Amino acid sequence: NESVVHAEVLVLGGGPGGYTAAFRAADLGKQVVLIERYPALGGVCLNVGCIPSKALLHVAQVIHEVDEFEQHGLSYGKPSFDIDKIRSWKESVSKTLSDGLARLVKQRKVTLIQGTGTFTSSHTIEVKTETGVTTVSFDQAIIAAGSHPTKIPIFPHDDPRLWDSTDALELKEIPKKLLIVGGGIIGLEMATVYHALGSEISVVELMDQIIPGCDNDLVTPLYRRIKKQYQNIWLETRVAAIEKHKDGLKVSFEGKGAPESAIFDAVLVAVGRRPNGKKIGADLAGVNVDEIGYIAVDKQQRTNVPHIFAIGDIVGNPMLAHKATYEGKIAAEVAAGLKAGFDALTIPAVAYTDPEVTWMGLTENQAKQQGIDYDKAVFPWAASGRSLSLGRKEGLTKILCEKETGRILGAGMVGPNAGELIAEAVLALEMGADAEDVGLTIHPHPMLSETFAFAAEMITGSITDLY
Ligand code: FAD
Repeated sequence: NESVVHAEVLVLGGGPGGYTAAFRAADLGKQVVLIERYPALGGVCLNVGCIPSKALLHVAQVIHEVDEFEQHGLSYGKPSFDIDKIRSWKESVSKTLSDGLARLVKQRKVTLIQGTGTFTSSHTIEVKTETGVTTVSFDQAIIAAGSHPTKIPIFPHDDPRLWDSTDALELKEIPKKLLIVGGGIIGLEMATVYHALGSEISVVELMDQIIPGCDNDLVTPLYRRIKKQYQNIWLETRVAAIEKHKDGLKVSFEGKGAPESAIFDAVLVAVGRRPNGKKIGADLAGVNVDEIGYIAVDKQQRTNVPHIFAIGDIVGNPMLAHKATYEGKIAAEVAAGLKAGFDALTIPAVAYTDPEVTWMGLTENQAKQQGIDYDKAVFPWAASGRSLSLGRKEGLTKILCEKETGRILGAGMVGPNAGELIAEAVLALEMGADAEDVGLTIHPHPMLSETFAFAAEMITGSITDLY
């Protein structure tokens, strides 16, 4: 069963990058064909990433809050949970969103083809569908084929007790002892979920801190808290081998913090993601793909083939949904003949751990490495009425400003709900605000967002003492 379709703009992949690009191109009057291999739109983010993880993290938060308020006189007894119900609730959240996308596809008259696409030339792609093959010819194409979890070849990936993030999000069971390989954002978010649901957590991280890439002072409050909650956090340590064993997976370690080998009921490998560039026949389209699978693009998201664009995880780090959607809009606009280009000054990052950790702009490590003259203020949430009323005092808000001008260069927060605060800092940076602008902006009281203004006032000198 063969058919041929023509697209003015062909979009390969229906994740956040792809659906955003498809919708934008359609809104700009282009006739768009969107190819997605899975029945549900939304890609990794909506189906096995951002959204299901946040649904489960909310469950974890409710459990922890109830638990921790026992000391302040509020007691509901030990939480009991129905894992099947939690799982279906999580699934319903993703489904609501992907059904919404399906409606938008129809409304915008985007042609959706469900199947796996492979380029056959610089103007054609072949899609294997359930019923046969559809060939799509295109004037322009936007590659948004995303990424997949990195596998470590020596690990027994055929063993169902060895998980990647997708397996962990399935919430099939709560292992008694869970080892998380990789102390980055995804690993620690999953640790937060399984810890709340009763697993004994161990984390092993190659670098000398968790969430490498973020300034150490912002990570420390999280580290201190989970150090008490989790069984082990081994830094500067790597997994040397994993063997199948009848009682679990036997893991041996090497490195500075390496413990004796031990048996775990499940092991989650969260050591990063690989782009899907090598799986889409890019060479037949003439698109260059590097060793790892990344596709290089210019500021307009063009690949080396001028009428083919690429966006999202497949073009590089940071692998984040909000970067993919931003790039998706640019590619669609350029394809439609508008003048657009990537000119964002920063891409914020958030770890939805407890406490949350977030940062944007220049980190202090980068400022030091680049020899930039900066002023810094760190406002402790122990002086925030709102934080104390949440029963929490470990948070921090940090701002870095250019010494000469006071312009905001970077900011970061750690604390409950810190992730909600970073957008203000991003706006300040994008608008070229200085510490005075932020300090003179009236912030509602008592809110955690005040801490950003207080940190700015510490820089300008209008707050000197922390009452
Ligand atoms: P993807 O979402 O990977 O979408 C690519 C799509 O292309 C997929 O649907 C795939 O099926 C399809 N596809 C691939 N090849 C083909 C083909 N040949 N034919 C047809 N279809 C194809 N980011 C955040 O910003 N915030 C978060 O909180 C967050 N949490 C995360 C949690 C987890 C557990 C994980 C794994 C990731 C998380 N991310 C988060 C990252 C985020 O999911 C990705 O950055 C984002 O999904 C990338 O979007 P994309 O459009 O580039 O690719």
